[in-house]
Amino acid sequence: MTVQEQYDHLVQTIRNYNPGADFALIDKAFLYARDHHGDQKRKDGSPFVTHPLSVAQIVADELHLDSESIVGALLHDCIEDTEATYADIAREFSPTIADLVEGVSKLTRVHYTSKEEEQMENLRKMLMAMTKDIRVILIKIADRTHNMRTMEYQSEEKQKQKSLETMEIYAPIAHRLGMQRMKWELEDLSLKYLDPIGYNEIVSSLDSKRAEYEAFMERVQGQIESRLIELNIPFNKVYGRMKHPYSIYRKMYAQSKTMNEVLDLFAFRVIVNTVADCYNVLGIIHDLYRPILGRFKDYIGTPKPNMYQSLHTTVIGQDGIPFEVQIRTQEMHDIAEYGVAAHWKYKQGISGKSNEASYEWVRRLLENQENTDAEEFIHTLKVDMFADEVFVFSPKGDVTNLPAGATPIDFAYSVHSAVGNSMTGAKVNSRIVPLDYKLQNGDIVEILTAKNAHGPSRDWLKIAQSSEARGKIRQWFKREKREENIVNGRLSFEAELKHLGIPFSEVVGTELQTTLLKKTPYGTMDDMYAAIGYGGFSAQKAVNRIHEEISRLSKQHQAERAAASSEKDPAKTIPPRRTKSEQGIVVEGLSNCLVKFSKCCTPVPGDEIIGFITRGYGVSVHRCDCPNAAPSRRKPEEYGRWIRVTWGEDVKESYATSLDIYAKDRINLVLDVSAALSTTQTRVNAINASTTPDGFALIHLNISVSDSQHLSSVMRKLHQISGVMKVDRPAG
Ligand code: MN
Repeated sequence: MTVQEQYDHLVQTIRNYNPGADFALIDKAFLYARDHHGDQKRKDGSPFVTHPLSVAQIVADELHLDSESIVGALLHDCIEDTEATYADIAREFSPTIADLVEGVSKLTRVHYTSKEEEQMENLRKMLMAMTKDIRVILIKIADRTHNMRTMEYQSEEKQKQKSLETMEIYAPIAHRLGMQRMKWELEDLSLKYLDPIGYNEIVSSLDSKRAEYEAFMERVQGQIESRLIELNIPFNKVYGRMKHPYSIYRKMYAQSKTMNEVLDLFAFRVIVNTVADCYNVLGIIHDLYRPILGRFKDYIGTPKPNMYQSLHTTVIGQDGIPFEVQIRTQEMHDIAEYGVAAHWKYKQGISGKSNEASYEWVRRLLENQENTDAEEFIHTLKVDMFADEVFVFSPKGDVTNLPAGATPIDFAYSVHSAVGNSMTGAKVNSRIVPLDYKLQNGDIVEILTAKNAHGPSRDWLKIAQSSEARGKIRQWFKREKREENIVNGRLSFEAELKHLGIPFSEVVGTELQTTLLKKTPYGTMDDMYAAIGYGGFSAQKAVNRIHEEISRLSKQHQAERAAASSEKDPAKTIPPRRTKSEQGIVVEGLSNCLVKFSKCCTPVPGDEIIGFITRGYGVSVHRCDCPNAAPSRRKPEEYGRWIRVTWGEDVKESYATSLDIYAKDRINLVLDVSAALSTTQTRVNAINASTTPDGFALIHLNISVSDSQHLSSVMRKLHQISGVMKVDRPAG
């Protein structure tokens, strides 16, 4: 057959079921594909364009699809194998058709390397999820069918690989879409390459008894037909067929039987007009032959998840040969053979309910489509059953199933927590992406890691979508940052108590602490702080556990205050509760917290100061004029960490601080500096002098002073030394 003859045949096929098809557009697509594929050849030496023509023929012949699908099938390899681009096809034809072609190409690019069952299930789901328009998957299945039919020209390795893919991915998808006829063909073709010996055994056994079997089938067919005519039951068709090789094969293996032992080598179909007649015919069959107990199935009352409906029964004929009889209406029959593709012919939908929610979408669509025409119906039939999942590949080709909106962080933790914890970045389809990139179906995700990575940041908890990733990030903080968690946890616990007006000291180290620990899973307060710190527990929950005790305390305090204020003599008023300070520093709202003085500005009592809650080392105290504490330098995400601190009444005897002296260098300069310090009774912790080639000196001092007044007098004294130009308190 020439290319032109093949095309004419296609047009004739379409004309038979859809005379109103857009033949001008189909014509244009044929010429476009023919010209673009040029002199490309298939493996068997035929012009490449015979492949898209054959795929279009399957789409027309077997699926009776609309004009756009035919055009999509004709062009389906153009983006992948020719110079044509998505934009070219969108311009020449339409964006919808370009989407179909691009959709088929995307499915073609998906690679299958893993063979585990779970992986296969994910791959199937991914293909469905990638398919925005159901016609894409129908064209792809037709494409695969034609490739399988012409597989003999491929290498043995390719045959095995494609057959496995077909058996594991495409046949199950065809089954789910209710396309039994194509599912069988795909299975039989795959079996032929996957187990040639087993396949040939079945086929040759069927062949050798063909005459015998055909005579048997004709006899049974005649018996059924004459009985139906006798009883005046209208029917469309009665016919027998052999079960297809793969179904026999599977039964032989599953039940460890030889071919002769497999029941149901034959299946008969009785196609009638109404559902009532289905049940009538069932009674007639059971009357005519002896039914095998327990083999009757009513898929009309309870359709299969893929919408299959039929009555099945297995009976034994007069000559002792068992066979199956399937009874259904014409509509049920078409849906069984062609599945989703048949639906546009039957816009009334189907009666009965399926339990599987996955197929709800088909039913929903059917219900909504009752008043639209055929072309429009198939057009709007979209696959949205995996809307809440996204499927991505590892660089090795393993498929991972993540919640929709998942990011590279989720992917990394799904591989292993060690991968997530050492993650420094991510590439998607070979390009670097931000960590909050939303993964798309079919993305290839590569996680960049480093041994010395900092580990996850707390922000990741907000970015990650999967509970798995979040759990693992929390786990990391729990393990790696115990010290920091304890400090943070303690701060939140104190703040929560303060909020209720309960001083920390009335809980910690008291009976209340024992009560609290008994009511939580933690052995020590540090364990509890750590848990609050990493987010496994909350300060609020902790306080709630001792709610009763706290409210009792709280009432007691109220009573004390009331009693105090009722006193007439103001002198007897209880002085305001003095907060205990740490190293002379009172931290607003907190007591007993670790305090350290920042090295950059070394504050002393009398200086204006401000505190910063560090990660892990308590509160660090700066001078207000320290550049490190300047409001302009404060990071927005750390605003909450800057807190007010003041000097308490119980300051220490002395505080270490630094001074820088700039002077004209001369003999005995350092000696005079020491003398000045000694006359002001200042202890020197360190003295470090250096000179510059142009005759100047810089003396760096670390001294201990009692407060800012003491420090000022020291600075004045130093300034009086001959040659000293400047005395500075370094900061920043
Ligand atoms: Mn193809």
